[in-house]
Amino acid sequence: MSLVVTESQAQKAIVEYLEIKGCTVLTTYIGMRHVVKDLPKQLRGILATPGVPDLLVTKPRWPIGGFLGLEVKRPQVEAGGKVLQRSGRPSAAQAELERAGRIYIVHSVDEAAMALESFEKALGVRL
Ligand SMILES: [Mg+2]
Repeated sequence: MSLVVTESQAQKAIVEYLEIKGCTVLTTYIGMRHVVKDLPKQLRGILATPGVPDLLVTKPRWPIGGFLGLEVKRPQVEAGGKVLQRSGRPSAAQAELERAGRIYIVHSVDEAAMALESFEKALGVRL
């Protein structure tokens, strides 16, 4: 088994976790990067606004407008003091949305769990 976790593997694990927690998860990005990169540059922009997070998460009991935006990035992997894989970097648009408190950037199920907890706390929803 490889130590390296791709972004789509991390995203799959995060979606499974959120669904177990009773969340409805809308996926905005389904791993078609290999298709997108072959498109002419002027067509790429029509697929989504820059910064749209990978996952939009909600629960029936959250108030209207309650959508948690999660941008998934591949995790950093280290072994024996060596970095085997650097973590994925947010785009400028994603970093701006994170600074504004509109999305969370997560690399693992643990970080997604923390984002969910933090978001529910901010909403004032009882955990
Ligand atoms: Mg992503």
